[in-house]
Amino acid sequence: MYRGKSITELRDLIDNQGVSPEEIFKSVVEDCHKYQDEYNSFVTIIDKFKMKARKDTLITGIPYALKDNFSTANILTTSSSNILKDYIPVYDATVYKKLKNAGGVLVGKTVLDELAMGGTGTTGHTGVVKNPWDKTRMIGGSSAGSASSVALGLVPFAIGSDTGDSIRKPASLGGVVGFKPTYGRISRYGLFAFASSLDHVGCLTRNVKDAAIVTDIIKGQDEADMTSLKDDLKNYVDTLENDIKGRKLFYIKEVCDKELYKDSNDEVLMKVLDDFYKTLDKLREEGFIIEEISIDKNLLEAIYPSYMSISCAEATSNNANLTGIQFGPRPEGVASYQELMMKARTEGFSELIKRRFILGSFILQKENQEKLFLNACRVRRLIVDKINDLFKTYDGMILPASGGIAPKFSDDSEKLSDRYLILENHLAIGNFGGFPSITLPFTMVNDMPVGINLTGRVCEDDVVLNMANYIEKVTGLKDIYSKVGEE
Ligand code: GLN
Repeated sequence: MYRGKSITELRDLIDNQGVSPEEIFKSVVEDCHKYQDEYNSFVTIIDKFKMKARKDTLITGIPYALKDNFSTANILTTSSSNILKDYIPVYDATVYKKLKNAGGVLVGKTVLDELAMGGTGTTGHTGVVKNPWDKTRMIGGSSAGSASSVALGLVPFAIGSDTGDSIRKPASLGGVVGFKPTYGRISRYGLFAFASSLDHVGCLTRNVKDAAIVTDIIKGQDEADMTSLKDDLKNYVDTLENDIKGRKLFYIKEVCDKELYKDSNDEVLMKVLDDFYKTLDKLREEGFIIEEISIDKNLLEAIYPSYMSISCAEATSNNANLTGIQFGPRPEGVASYQELMMKARTEGFSELIKRRFILGSFILQKENQEKLFLNACRVRRLIVDKINDLFKTYDGMILPASGGIAPKFSDDSEKLSDRYLILENHLAIGNFGGFPSITLPFTMVNDMPVGINLTGRVCEDDVVLNMANYIEKVTGLKDIYSKVGEE
């Protein structure tokens, strides 16, 4: 009954139409159960209505979902991993606490790719997440359930985490808005660490204004997170309608030039690129100045391997506590603590996680550190310097968030192709530099949504949201969701 409603629409129902938050909650939870078997958005659906009494914020009484790698006291938090399948935390993540204090109503913890590693939504311990626009396709990940719950219109917003693209990629494939603000803008206390130098908290919504509303509530300095930034004391909703005339954007030729792919026979890709350039033209009519720039292809090709090197190394270290001793089920009948750890980790992690921990351990070995880890950090620095240099002239970088629609589950595309290495992995630039970055739907190809990505200067979260709000006006794809199953 309340499917597909935005925060603002639900706000109006509560404030002006006499609908109670509990009534909305009940209907939303019913829908969450209804679509669970088919799409698998949730690890846990919360059946009991719980709301902090009388708060007066824009999200008071509004239902939302939280990725299952955020700590919630007394609520199962699995990070979609077998090793944490029974873990019930004793404390709340700061983001959750802030949402609770603002009167937000949690309806569920969403499925992710195990420990937030991966981008398919297929590696969680409770099964694969399906794309609401076509259930033979992936939604992408790792914030898979957060994206699908918003794409199904079940909740107006969901919280995600983004280390390489985990909010913005599933947002693109699911036809929703995904925003990760500047590194440190939102506290990560209580977020299970994946790669600390790259991890961001952010949100998935169905329009840009809702992203601003949610970010206004969850941002701010936190003494429990030493990497959190001093609060910018800005209200992002207030500046959404600021004039954008004269704002300058660039796109990277080596990422999205049609000539690069003309022999690919990939009609979907060509349509995505055509529509991308058409959108740029419309944005120019609105007053944006948009220019093409070039970046050394070698540098762009190095993004993905550098991302993998840094993130696997940090992940191996961060997850060293998942041993079956402090965390995870403690295996019985073992002779030594080494055997215990071996058994817990062998049984607790899927193939992808094991592969990444092996890579990470290798990269961190003393004799490999200089060549692998530190070189990856140097590449990261070169890329960030290059982008920051461009940001002296431009207010933002605009690119297609992906070169295609959501892949089929049977997809086996070439992972070392240029197309994959550059076009499908440039979103990690936003994590390398800690830049605020947003993806929003800009076109439909074969009835599937595709997102456009906008990335801006560090600490200019307000400017990014302001510009994205204008992009949303020209795409005509505001507030879309998959109406599957609706009578
Ligand atoms: N898809 C990327 C990976 O495989 C990013 C994951 C993320 O941002 N958490 O690691």
